[in-house]
Amino acid sequence: MLNPNDAAMLIFNDAQHPRSPVSGKRGQAHSFWLRLHGWSCMATRDRRARQLWRTAYKSDARRSVSRWPEQGMSRASGLVHSNAMLTELTDLLIAEGQAALTAGNGIVRFTGNHDADELLNDLDGHPHAFVLAALVDRQVKAERAWMMPLLIRQRHGSFEIGDLEPLSEQQWLSLLRHPTPAHRMPETMARVLHRAIHRIRAQYSGEAAQIWADMPPSARVVRRFLEFHGAGPKIATMAANILVRGFHVPLRDYRYIDISADVHVDRVMTRLGFVEPGSSPAVVIYAARELNPDFPGIFDLALWNVGRTLCRPAQPRCPECHLRDLCAYARTGKDVTRLDKEQPSTACPMQTPACSRQGP
Ligand code: SF4
Repeated sequence: MLNPNDAAMLIFNDAQHPRSPVSGKRGQAHSFWLRLHGWSCMATRDRRARQLWRTAYKSDARRSVSRWPEQGMSRASGLVHSNAMLTELTDLLIAEGQAALTAGNGIVRFTGNHDADELLNDLDGHPHAFVLAALVDRQVKAERAWMMPLLIRQRHGSFEIGDLEPLSEQQWLSLLRHPTPAHRMPETMARVLHRAIHRIRAQYSGEAAQIWADMPPSARVVRRFLEFHGAGPKIATMAANILVRGFHVPLRDYRYIDISADVHVDRVMTRLGFVEPGSSPAVVIYAARELNPDFPGIFDLALWNVGRTLCRPAQPRCPECHLRDLCAYARTGKDVTRLDKEQPSTACPMQTPACSRQGP
């Protein structure tokens, strides 16, 4: 097939090519091609040029479709990443998510501390432990946030909802500060916890499990988490996701459980080639919706695990990663955040020092 650039040169270099009746210049086909691509120019009236450029344009369009899933995604990053690879990657991640959904009813490991995990897994006796821990899971390592219910029980002497309700915001702050800081933002979290307990009391009769009881639609569960002070979409969808994935809480659907686009998920989605470098969390969320509309959050755990353990901002450990054969970053041997405008590399990723390279 004729390459558009070759065709341009062919026409530009053709001394016999008639001058355009519009501009008087030769090589107006190039302008025609530009117009086809959305740039302003004067269209040529040269029939031969039009034919050549239509051929070239169609050829170019076909190549774009086969090489890039869509304009502005992998194409914008200059990555050679085929539809087939992205599809295979999607299937692999969905299979991992489904495996988690259908896994046995073992204890969900949040912290590595047996007592803390036991309290968090007690959805019948202390469902508010799960809710409160989810609400404080920000600006600190996840393990530290999920330790909070146990820490509060140890410091206050009880974790019963009736014993927590009388605590003032100031008393919550004192619990979070002494003897050692339990969170990076004690004032904010004291307010979050104080209001959360009162909301659970007032709205759910002190029984936090009512948030997800009676098989509600996923949108309702996410909305109920969002109604807590300090909870944004990331926390709300994460909580709903853990409920269905970890605790197998039945919901009517999973459609509104989005991916929780934190730094780890964003980074891995970018490096795998699903979104452009520098994409906002909203773009990542919509990309996941596009890939699996019935349960966009199914990708969450697999991506987060890879991001936390292997796909670090600097020096990702690609040889240890099970996604390496399908990963745009590993395949090109380049940091995708620097790939804009660059030509794709065809080098075998395993032959390049992908893992000794400095990341962003
Ligand atoms: S192969 Fe490397 S860059 Fe790709 S997801 Fe795995 S660790 Fe990250």
